[in-house]
Parts: sequence; structure tokens; C-alpha cells
Amino acid sequence: MNFHILTLFPDMVMDGLNTSIIGRAIANKLLTIEAVNIRDFAVNKHNRVDDYTYGGGAGMLMQAEPVYLAYKSIEEKCKKMPRVIYLSPQGKTFSQEMAEEFAKEEELIFLCGHYEGIDERVLEDIVTDYVSIGDYVLTGGELPSMVMIDAISRLIPGVLHNNVSAEFETFQDNLLEYPQYTRPEEWRGKKVPEILLSGHHANIEKWRREQSIIRTAKARPDLLEKAELTEKEKKILANHSEI
Ligand code: SAM
Repeated sequence: MNFHILTLFPDMVMDGLNTSIIGRAIANKLLTIEAVNIRDFAVNKHNRVDDYTYGGGAGMLMQAEPVYLAYKSIEEKCKKMPRVIYLSPQGKTFSQEMAEEFAKEEELIFLCGHYEGIDERVLEDIVTDYVSIGDYVLTGGELPSMVMIDAISRLIPGVLHNNVSAEFETFQDNLLEYPQYTRPEEWRGKKVPEILLSGHHANIEKWRREQSIIRTAKARPDLLEKAELTEKEKKILANHSEI
């Protein structure tokens, strides 16, 4: 999988992504991340890539041509037309489901806006997907692109050491993950639930599933509405007094 990031701040994204699990995946050639500096495609001698907005208004806007040329420099190298994701607070909210869909692609281009954003005309020409990471406004698309690349990368086979760790996780089956514990068995007077020390796998799985359901009911009842529960599980939920 090859990620290409069009940005005015290539060091920010490369420094952020080239560490820990994603950094190791790059070293192991499971994925590549390339940041393309839009400023390298400036079309004036002062290397400016932004200008005032027509019609007035505060702030500067990134110009169409440098963005277009930066995009073209990547598109020319790709075997087929890649999806181009514009990070924007106006986009569809990013989700685990979207991460799974994007993880099927071979190439992805992320376009990071800055200042007031980017001239609409180039967006119309090159963008295939508008994605937001939440209902708040950031100064640039760099952090959102890093968030998306992180979430997508860990779904690529081999990126997580233990592929099982991506198997049951929060949002899978529309449930939140069950509580987890590590050593010591007792920490400041609090013990690990007895069942987890029993070695009885079927019972542990049952307990975890119940905990997931209870936890989702408390924290994200909206998700639970979409989860597929057995009749027995629905009863457990109904009988659970804490909820
Ligand atoms: N004027 C734009 C608007 O009102 O929709 C906001 C521009 S914002 C200050 C600058 C850039 O940050 C955007 O072009 C976008 O790339 C990025 N950005 C800001 N908030 C974001 C969010 N919630 N999700 C994704 N990208 C975001």
C-alpha cells in the first residue's frame, strides 16, 4: 500500500508517522509513505501558494495550480487513477468502516488544506472523497491525514505483529471492546476478574462478550442498536441492573 500526502508541511507528517508500529511497517516494506511539498509546485518567484479570497473575507486560500501540479506529479506514477481524499471538516465523518474500505486500495492520495482551505475548482477536478475526522475545525489537514493513515495501516496484513489483535476490537460487530488486564494479578487492592485466570477459554469468551455488550449499552447505546444480539444476550442486557 502506498500513501501519498500532499501538504505544505511534509516534515510534520513524516516525523509523526515514521515511528512505532507504522515506522516499523515502513521499514519492513509493508507500506510506503511519501509526503509531497505543494510549495515545490508554486508558480511564482516568491514560492507563494496562497492568496486572498475573491469576494472578500478573512484569511488566505491555497491556490489551485500548485495543488493540481503536486497531484499530477503523483498521478503520473500510479498504475491506475488513485482515490484522492481531501481532509475537510465538511466531509463525511471518518469511521472504522471507512478505514476498512480504504485499506483495500493500493494507492491513496491525501490532500491537506491549510489557512482557509483550497480553491474549489481544483477540488472539483481531483478529489474523489471528502473526509472529516470530527465536528471541529483544525488549522490543517496534516493531523487528520495522519489519523486516517494510522487507522488504515494497522488493517494491512502484517502491520500488527499479532494479526489477532485487530480481530476483535472496538466497533467490530458494533460493540466496544471488553475490559482488559495485565500483570500484576492484584494492583493496589484491585484484583483481575477471577474468570480470566481460570484458563477456561469458552467461559472467558462468554464473559468478554457480555462485558462488551454491557459496556456498549452504557457508553454507546447508539452502536448497540445496530449490533446483532442473541435472544439470551438481549435478556442479559435487560436484567443488568447497572445499565
Ligand atoms: N474554511 C474551512 C471551512 O470552514 O470548512 C476550514 C478550513 S481549516 C481552517 C484548514 C484545513 O484544515 C482544511 O482545508 C482541512 O484540510 C483541514 N481540517 C480542518 N478541520 C478538519 C477536520 N475536522 N477534518 C479534516 N480536516 C480538517
